[in-house]
Amino acid sequence: MRKHGLAARRSLGQHFLFDLNLTRRIARAAGDLGRGTTIEVGPGPGGLTRGLLAEGAAHLVVVERDARALPALEEIAAFWGRERLTIVEGDALELDLAAMGTAPRRIVANLPYNVGTPMLLTWLARPDAFETLVVMLQKEVVERLAAAPGSAAYGRLSVAAQWHWQVRRLFDVAPSAFSPPPAVVSAVAELRPHAKPLAEADAKTLERVVAAAFGQRRKMLRQSLKSLGGDPLALCAAADIDATRRAETLSVEEFCALARVVSARRAGV
Ligand code: SAM
Repeated sequence: MRKHGLAARRSLGQHFLFDLNLTRRIARAAGDLGRGTTIEVGPGPGGLTRGLLAEGAAHLVVVERDARALPALEEIAAFWGRERLTIVEGDALELDLAAMGTAPRRIVANLPYNVGTPMLLTWLARPDAFETLVVMLQKEVVERLAAAPGSAAYGRLSVAAQWHWQVRRLFDVAPSAFSPPPAVVSAVAELRPHAKPLAEADAKTLERVVAAAFGQRRKMLRQSLKSLGGDPLALCAAADIDATRRAETLSVEEFCALARVVSARRAGV
């Protein structure tokens, strides 16, 4: 950071890691890096990049928005071999990571917290494209990703993640591990796609049902599902779900059952 004048910018969510023990531990969580392509979003000056290369990444593509980081990344490429490290300057939200390199693909990232959740949501929609996602985010977000029904953290993000992915919270990382330290504790999550989704549903319809239910999370479904239009009592009865239950008690499979009924009604079945 000193050599390249890389003062961290809050607007880019920059909190850098330099402890090679920690970055290697994150890299190992992604499994066998020797096959296909590993994609790192937001490498910054390359702390995690070096961890991934040290753990054997055969082809690593890094996508960084901040051009100031490129000279530091070029040094890493020169040291580890340009055939192993491809540097892409750009906004990861606008690039199709599923088309980078060859399969199998995995994403490993210490995500910028301001745009980490929208980034993750785009990858969650592509369980066909990635064999693993290993992401560091605020601990509170990782808790929501992994939360079980009935817990306070269970919500839209839990359903969006767990429908297609098995989510594991691996370990927490204290603010002092970063330069500069963030205000909150971070955590690393590992997500692997299920062989098939937990239950069938149309993705957009499921999203609408889950948003309606959690939009009024303290209310019973017979109230919260009114915003979908139609009769919530009939909808719940057709899905075999008690309309006096609240969103946070429903499993992912039960949300899918509601979504299937909504889709069938729209199709006039
Ligand atoms: N991977 C590095 C590490 O662990 O030390 C840096 C992590 S830092 C939390 C997040 C990085 O993401 C920063 O380098 C920032 O410039 C980059 N970034 C922010 N928004 C981005 C975007 N839209 N696309 C690509 N990179 C982005």
